[in-house]
Amino acid sequence: MSEVRPIGRFPEEWAEELAALGEPKYRAQQIFRWIHRHGELDAAKMTDLPVALRERLTGAGVVAPLEVVDVHRAKDGTRKLVLGMQGGGRIECVLIPMTPLSGDADLAAAADDDDDTLENAPAERTRVTLCVSTQFGCAMGCVFCASGRAGLGRGLGADEIVSQVILARRQLDENEDLTNLVFMGMGEPLHHYDETARALRLLTHPEGTGMSPRRITVSTVGLVPGLKRLGSDFAGKVGLAVSLHAPDDATRSRIVPMNKRYPLNELIAALKSYPLPRRRRITIEYTLIDGVNDSDEHADRLVRVLAGLPVKVNLIPMNPVAGADFRASPPERVDAFQARVAGYGLSCFVRARRGDEVSAACGQLALEPGLIELGRARVPA
Ligand code: SAH
Repeated sequence: MSEVRPIGRFPEEWAEELAALGEPKYRAQQIFRWIHRHGELDAAKMTDLPVALRERLTGAGVVAPLEVVDVHRAKDGTRKLVLGMQGGGRIECVLIPMTPLSGDADLAAAADDDDDTLENAPAERTRVTLCVSTQFGCAMGCVFCASGRAGLGRGLGADEIVSQVILARRQLDENEDLTNLVFMGMGEPLHHYDETARALRLLTHPEGTGMSPRRITVSTVGLVPGLKRLGSDFAGKVGLAVSLHAPDDATRSRIVPMNKRYPLNELIAALKSYPLPRRRRITIEYTLIDGVNDSDEHADRLVRVLAGLPVKVNLIPMNPVAGADFRASPPERVDAFQARVAGYGLSCFVRARRGDEVSAACGQLALEPGLIELGRARVPA
């Protein structure tokens, strides 16, 4: 019998489960479709199943593993969903509408280099990216990020990762389409590889949500073994973003402690061997922190470190977080850094800040809402 919790099962695992219940096999696909294609997490509502089976399924745990506790909507349309887990604890995910003029289409386009649907889409439709969490808390300890402040609570099950997508879809406005996923919420996806990979397979399963892997981007602090697994398991089809944040080991180790385990030369080598399809690029995330990693010398070194890699650089002026000893680079520095990197012919953009009035911006997803409020009071945006 499958050990996997119901919402995280593949059709073949459902088939096994159903055989044990004495149910016909073909129900497996029906149930999988209900959950992943129609987003129905309540077995009682799977209307083409016999009532007795629906009841058995409910009893066997076919229920939503997460509950929407709160939806915070920012003026720019960004929505942060606060989701309660069974047994306590809350995680967050964020819906980010891509308005053509917002300048942050790069967030969605992380997975979109060879994609022209943005241009072809009817003007009245809005494409939305969902930023999902993979862990409750985080063990990576990056000094400028709120998500790891209290350490790692636990990794999320694939059912919980996928449920974020299903529940967020219900929050879409009528003119919106959920087109892209970024694994950039709380947690480190590659520190929690198996459930992350299962979630990726569920989300791209043709009988289910059927998302193209090209429209999904996994962001990592740079765990080299995980990068290798992701590359080989998905043949490089899943988009990749790497939180680099510094071009030399001394600076990077100071702000991204994992750099001591996987220093830059190993990380860059892993990126070089990532089986990226032609015309796709790896997104390099670089949070600009005042006086720490934002000098012209850093920009020059960054260009040298990335030489020969198919990348685009996403600069993120640091968002305020609780008790952080660091703050955002001033806007002039951000512009100068961007211009310097772009001057070498590298594609380099500043990611527009989205949703920070509801603490939904990069690095602001936290275990306790109070933490962020504290941070905002200390470091006014
Ligand atoms: N653990 C993964 C997924 C998180 S993605 C990773 O590190 O890539 C979230 C992104 O926001 C990462 O690039 C992270 O470094 C960045 N970030 C974290 N705190 C931030 C802050 N205060 N301001 C701006 N960006 C931040």
